[in-house]
Amino acid sequence: MLDYLIDNFGRRITYIRFSVTPRCNFNCVYCNSHTGETDKDEEFSTKDIEFLFSVMPEVGVKKVRLTGGEPLLRYDILDIVKALKKDKIQEIVLTTNGFYLSSVAEALREAGLTRVNVSLDTLNRDTFVHVTGVDALDIVNSGIKEAIKYGLTPVKINTVLMRGINEKDILPIAELTLNSDITVRFIELMPVKDNNFWKMHYINFRTALALIKKKYELIKSTGGSGEVASYYRIKGAPGKIGFITPISQHFCKYCNRIRITAKGEIYPCLFSKEYISIRDAVKDRNKDLLVSLIRKSVDIKPKEHGVISLSSQDFINNMRELGG
Ligand code: SAM
Ligand code: SF4
Repeated sequence: MLDYLIDNFGRRITYIRFSVTPRCNFNCVYCNSHTGETDKDEEFSTKDIEFLFSVMPEVGVKKVRLTGGEPLLRYDILDIVKALKKDKIQEIVLTTNGFYLSSVAEALREAGLTRVNVSLDTLNRDTFVHVTGVDALDIVNSGIKEAIKYGLTPVKINTVLMRGINEKDILPIAELTLNSDITVRFIELMPVKDNNFWKMHYINFRTALALIKKKYELIKSTGGSGEVASYYRIKGAPGKIGFITPISQHFCKYCNRIRITAKGEIYPCLFSKEYISIRDAVKDRNKDLLVSLIRKSVDIKPKEHGVISLSSQDFINNMRELGG
């Protein structure tokens, strides 16, 4: 019988976001809280990951998101997907900056990946370079096309809303849903430690919604189960437009996830300063200890994160380690 992970507020945890590496080949303005090199040898090996996720179905985990850093920098990413498949994880998804996607999309599908989310904040080449530090808009667009071609669908595009940087892109990115069954999700900018960017560039999702509504009739739609975005369709369009609103309307009440870092720390919330280390339990292949530590991490899951305001102290400690 399944012995579910249920926290102190009655929320059932069925979803793990696993940052397979904090390393990244981009340097996005809103994400970078990372200082110095990370030690690749500290990251869990493929075998560690297979052991870690072998216990998940029996505690009711159904979905795993591979994130980072940039997950496609892991040379063993296909083996990781295969290991999760072997561990009987029902839904395996991956969030990527798209740089390496075109070369690996087919193999990811064959390995058992369900679908991908690709981060794309702009359709303008100069803005892309400004945001990511890399001149790779065309490469990322090809990655998105390959992902669609090989059925890693519905492909979801993640666009972080930034005042003064990509407002002009909101409408063209929303219009990507007009001719194709993709989902575009506008995400409110979140504050990251030592990155004052948030204070200058945060925009409430309503600004983006109003901009799209000015030109198009929007019909309310739905996402998948456990979805934290609210969804719409432009009337007659095949794709969907979602809004993820961690700041203006946090969705903590419905939170069904915990986060695991590449070296084996479980963070019960993106804004947690507290974590539980499962590193030794995984390295020692100690299943009972591992399950009890996972339960402990669920027990310390906070009811909600605090109100985020210009004067508040809530921020994300290290986006790349936590996986967004
Ligand atoms: N490198 C991959 C990518 O960029 O898609 C995966 C890791 S990234 C940390 C995961 C997601 O977090 C991306 O969609 C990114 O846009 C989002 N993200 C990063 N920093 C953010 C911030 N300060 N506010 C909102 N979203 C952020
Ligand atoms: Fe790298 Fe993704 Fe962070 Fe950009 S958002 S720096 S691609 S981890």
